[in-house]
Parts: sequence; C-alpha cells; structure tokens
Amino acid sequence: PADSPKALDASQLITTLTSNPRSVPTEKEANAGLETVCTDHMVTATWSLSKGWAAPELKPYGPLSLLPTASCLHYATECFEGLKVYRGYDGKLRIFRPDRNAQRFRMSAARISLPVFEPEEVVKLMMALLSVDGPKWLPKDKPGSYLYIRPTLIGTDGQLGVQAPKAAMMYIMVTFMPRLDTPEGGLRLHTSPEDMVRAWVGGFGYAKVGANYGPSLMATQDARLRGFHQILWLYGPNGECTEAGASNFFVVWKRKDGKKELITAPLDDKLILDGVTRRSCLEIVREKLAGEIEVTERKYSIDEVLEADAEGRILEAFAAGTAYFVCAISQIHHRGQDVNIPMGREGAPGEITNKVKTWLGDIMYGRTQHEWGVVI
Ligand code: PMP
Repeated sequence: PADSPKALDASQLITTLTSNPRSVPTEKEANAGLETVCTDHMVTATWSLSKGWAAPELKPYGPLSLLPTASCLHYATECFEGLKVYRGYDGKLRIFRPDRNAQRFRMSAARISLPVFEPEEVVKLMMALLSVDGPKWLPKDKPGSYLYIRPTLIGTDGQLGVQAPKAAMMYIMVTFMPRLDTPEGGLRLHTSPEDMVRAWVGGFGYAKVGANYGPSLMATQDARLRGFHQILWLYGPNGECTEAGASNFFVVWKRKDGKKELITAPLDDKLILDGVTRRSCLEIVREKLAGEIEVTERKYSIDEVLEADAEGRILEAFAAGTAYFVCAISQIHHRGQDVNIPMGREGAPGEITNKVKTWLGDIMYGRTQHEWGVVI
C-alpha cells in the first residue's frame, strides 16, 4: 500500500550536481593527513518510523543539519562502514567485496535499533556516488591510488527520551586517506592495559558502531606516546589475542607438532569485527596454500604467543583491515616483555604476509580479475 513505510530504494536516487566543483589536492597534500578532504558529492537518505526511507539524494558535499537533541549525539546511535575505491592498473575503478560491508552495515544498524535496509541498495548508492566522483578524484593516470568510502547511519530524533530512534539518516561520503603502508621496520603493538577491554561477551564488539571506538582512544594514545603504533587488545583472564587497533590480528607460527599455521581469533562470542580483509586473508590462504599451511580460527592467548616466541616458533605476524591493509608486525610488547617478530629481508614483510598482500592487492588493483573486485 502507498502509505506503508518504504524500503530503501537506490533506483529513486535524486541527483543534484555541485555548481562549485573543488580542485583535487596533489598527492603530497592528500598524504599530509588530509582525511578532511572529501570529494564533491555525498549521498544522503532519511528514514522515519511512519514513512520508512525517503528517496535518497546525491548532492554537493556539505554540513548536515541536526538538532542538539539528536539521538546520535547523546546515545551513540551511530554505526558506519569503511571501504576503499581503487584505481586499477587496467584503468578501471573497483571496490572490494562491497556486499560484505553492506551486510555488516545492516547488522551494525540492527544492533543499535537503527532502521535496516537491503544491503544491495547501499552497494548501488555507493556505486552511484563513485561513478560521479570517481573519475575526477581518482584520475586514470594514477593507477595504484585509492579513496576511502564512509557510509554512516545515525539516529536523528530530536528528543532526549532514551528510546529506539524514530528518525534516522544515512549518508555516504568519499574522502582522502593518507597511505598507512607498513611503517619503517614494521608495526609495533602494545598489549591493552590490564584494566581495559575493547569488547566483552554480550557486548557489541562485532558491530561497527562508533561506541566501540571513542573509548579505545585513550589506550591507543598512551601506546603512541610510548612509541607503539597500535594496541593488541587482549580479552579475559587468559589474555586472548583479539584485534590490533582497528584491524584483525594474525600470527603465522610453527605449532608444537611442527606444522605451519596461520592463526586468528574466532568470530564466536561476538568479540571481534568480522573484517572483510580478515575473511579474504583466510579464504585466499585456505585456497592457495592448502596443504602447506593450516588456517585456524580459535581462541589463543598472549601466553601462547610468548611461549612460541621463547621456543623460536613464530614466523610472522600481521594486521589486516581496510585502512592498514595487510601490515607486517615486528614487535609486541606485553607487560615488560618484548616479542620480536621476524620480518622479510631489508624490513620487507615476511613470505606469507607478502603473498597475502600481493594476492589481495592484485584483485583490488585489477591485476587479477576476480569476483571480489567489483568494477564501477
Ligand atoms: N577490527 C576493527 C575494530 C575495525 O574497525 C576494522 C576496520 N573496519 C577491522 C577490524 C578490519 O575490518 P575490515 O577488514 O573490514 O576493514
């Protein structure tokens, strides 16, 4: 019926192009921390409980208008996604497994009582925005470059009662992100403070909600002041290894039985984010290195890592996520002890890390044709 709440529908997109196009920053400017620079346009879509989703709009990038009483400003009714658009060496623009991000977006929204949608519609909206801004902001003569896409959903109800939002807004913007390639000498991690956890059983660590990030900044800031790049978040009395900053965490080691293993924390208990890069690393290693290396998702503790280190069984470690991509880890500091992790020759990533990085990178940048690389 005409008056029942409407589903999100990308085919209804209303386009208003900017009359004030901005100049694209130079690579130097873009890499100087200009995450503040967005492209010319954004997509917005509003929702209300009674009407459902209004027709989405593609319009000039600019400030949002919110009442100070808006739900998201008080009760963390906010979730988001993050993925990149890549300019391929074959001249094409691609996004990587956007269906996974869109599904996770819906799952996060549901966790904080925000409205849901068909993930496919969000993919279509991202594609629409990228087909307008992509060609100008990622020119064809710059293969190997990328921009970052940030779909966001907020509760916008202008009333302070603590309740599920009756109004919401989705918006998608595209921004520059400086290169966060493996830092000189590899990533150095500091384990989380004894009195802090990032997530807990029954909580929402598996959802990409803003509420997971603000409270983690204190520990990260502290670690940075002490010369580390990221926190290795431990959980529980056994100090289970979970995630590294806003990335998933992997170790390549020799098991006690001599078998080579790639290990990472499991998704059960809903403690960690189901990273798209994580999933892709696991799938590609299972496929390409079958028989050579075991791939294991299970709980494992920092003590197991320390023990493996003492026995010389650690081969490599890496962090995997959209921002850092696949990034070799050279050191883990845990309560006065250092685990020094082997890297490749001349500070390059180790063999497995490098293989995974190359396989996935080749899909992203169109050197390998694969269904994960979705052409815009
Ligand atoms: N864990 C957390 C907490 C994150 O924020 C991210 C970044 N989205 C990841 C892991 C990696 O996820 P993805 O590979 O999908 O970027």
